[in-house]
Amino acid sequence: MTVKESEMPKQYQNFINGRHFDAKSGKTFENRNPANWDEVLSTFPLSGKEDVDDAVNAARKAFETWRLVPAPSRGNILKKVGDLLTARKEDLARTMTKEMGKVLLETRGDVQEGIDTAYYAASEARRLFGHTVPSELPNKFNMAMRMPIGVAGIITPWNFPMAIPTWKIFPALVCGNSVVFKPASDTPETAAKLVEILIETGVPEGVVNIVHGGGGSVGMAIVDHPSIDLISFTGSSVVGKKISEVASKTLKRVSLELGGKNAQIVMDDARLDLALEGVLWGAFGTTGQRCTATSRLIVHEKVYDKFLSMLVDHTKKLRLGDGLKETTDVGPLVNQGQVETVEKYVRIGADEGAKILTGGKRPDGKELSKGWFYEPTILGGVTPSMRVAREEIFGPVLSVIKVRNITEAIDVTNGTNYGLSSSVYTQDLNNAYQAIRDIRAGITYINAPTIGAEAHMPFGGVKETGNGHREGGWTVYEFFSEWKTVYVDYSGKLQRAQIDTKE
Ligand code: NAP
Repeated sequence: MTVKESEMPKQYQNFINGRHFDAKSGKTFENRNPANWDEVLSTFPLSGKEDVDDAVNAARKAFETWRLVPAPSRGNILKKVGDLLTARKEDLARTMTKEMGKVLLETRGDVQEGIDTAYYAASEARRLFGHTVPSELPNKFNMAMRMPIGVAGIITPWNFPMAIPTWKIFPALVCGNSVVFKPASDTPETAAKLVEILIETGVPEGVVNIVHGGGGSVGMAIVDHPSIDLISFTGSSVVGKKISEVASKTLKRVSLELGGKNAQIVMDDARLDLALEGVLWGAFGTTGQRCTATSRLIVHEKVYDKFLSMLVDHTKKLRLGDGLKETTDVGPLVNQGQVETVEKYVRIGADEGAKILTGGKRPDGKELSKGWFYEPTILGGVTPSMRVAREEIFGPVLSVIKVRNITEAIDVTNGTNYGLSSSVYTQDLNNAYQAIRDIRAGITYINAPTIGAEAHMPFGGVKETGNGHREGGWTVYEFFSEWKTVYVDYSGKLQRAQIDTKE
C-alpha cells in the first residue's frame, strides 16, 4: 500500500535571510505526537553552529535597515500578525495539541495569548515613551530615548509554544531588533508556522530567522555567539544558569524566565467550592507542565480533611486522553523523559513518607497505551522539607501540606528556591493583604488559581525563577531597548555641567 502524499510527514526547513534551508549537516529530527508515539507529524533540520552563523550574519545585516524603520510602521506589521493569528487560530491550536499534547481548550488559549501580545505590541509601537527632563543649565534640552539594541537570540520551551515566542519576538521587533529564534525541539511546528506568518505579513528578509535543532548545539551556539547582543530565554533553571555563565563571557544582556514550585493556600474561611475549581485547573491544566502550575496545596488544618476528600473525589473524575478530543480534561505529558521524571518524583515522595491518595501510575487501557500519559496524582501528608515539596516536578502531581494559620502558610509557601506564582483562597481581607505583602513571588492571585497570566501585565519571578527581568506588558520593552541620553545645548556658548551652574 502506498502512503498518500497528504499523509506523509511534512519536511520543514530553517528560515534564514528570507530563504528556506536544510541543515548544513543534512541531518533531520522527527516531531512525534505524545498522545500516540507512532505518529510522526513532521521532520525538521538538525542544525548546528554553521547554520547559526548564517542566521546571525543575516540578522546583523538586516538590523541596520530594520532599526531605521519607524516604530509605528513596525507596529503595523504586528497588527497584521495579530489578524493572521486570529484567522489561523484553530489550525495553530490543533498543530500545538498534536505536537505537545495539551487539550484544545488550552492550545486555543495559547494562540489567543499570541494574538493579544501582537495587538499590544502594535499599540506599544506608538508609545515606546522616553523622558524629557529639565536641564541644570539655561538654553539646554535634555531627553532620554529608547534605542534598538541589535540581534536578539530567542530560546523557548515547549509548554507554551506560541505564547512564549510571541512574548519575546514581538517586543524585540517593535523595539527595532532583529531575531535569531531557536524553538524547543518538542514543538518546532507551531514555531515554524508563527515564523511563516511573520514573513507573510511583511517582516523584511533577515529580520526574523529560525534555526531548528538541539539546545546543547543550536541553543548554545546562539548564547555563545559574539555577534548576538541579547538573549531572552525561558526554560529550566539548570539550563538558565548555564546560559547565564556562557553569555557573561561576551557581556550579553540576558533575560531568564525559569522554573517554579507554586503554591495555592486554602484558608479555613475560604470558599471551598471556588478553591476546588482553582486547584483542579492550576494543578492539572497543561498536565501540570506549566511554570505557574500549582504543585503545592497548603491547607488550613480546620478544613484539611474535608477539602482533601473533595479534591481526591474530583481528581478521580478527570478524563485522560488525546487533547484533540473535546471530552478530554488532561492530555499526555510531552515526552518519555517527562514521564520518567514524574515517576521518579512519585517514588521519592512515597519513600519520604507521603501518601499517594490517587493516581501515582500510568493509566491502564488500550486507548492510552501509545501515549505519554500519567494519572493525575495527589500526595497527602507532605511536609515542607520533603523533596516533593521543594523541587519542580513539572507534571500532574500535587503535594498537599497542612498548616495552622496564615503566617505558617506563607512561610511554607516561601520555603523553596523558586518564586514565580502563588495563590490564596480566603474571604478575610487581612489574610489576603498579609499574603500579598509577605509571599516572595513575582505573582500573587487572590481567590484565583496560580495560572492565568494576562498579556498586558508583567510576568516573571524572584529567586531561582529568574534574573530580575519581566516579560509581558510594558516591562518587557525595557529589556529589548537601550536608553540613549541626549543633551541639546542651544545657548551658543560652552556651558559646563556642575561648574557653570549659578545658584
Ligand atoms: P529546558 O530543557 O531548559 O529547554 C528550554 C529551551 O532551551 C529549549 O529550546 C531547549 O532546546 C533549550 N536548551 C536546552 N539546553 C540548552 C543549552 N545548553 N543551551 C541553550 N539552550 C538550551 O526547558 P523545557 O523542558 O523546555 O521547559 C520546562 C522548563 O521551563 C520548566 O522548568 C519550566 O518551569 C520552565 N518554564 C518557565 C517559564 C517562565 O516564564 N518562568 C515558562 C515556561 C516554562 P531543546 O528543546 O532542543 O532541548
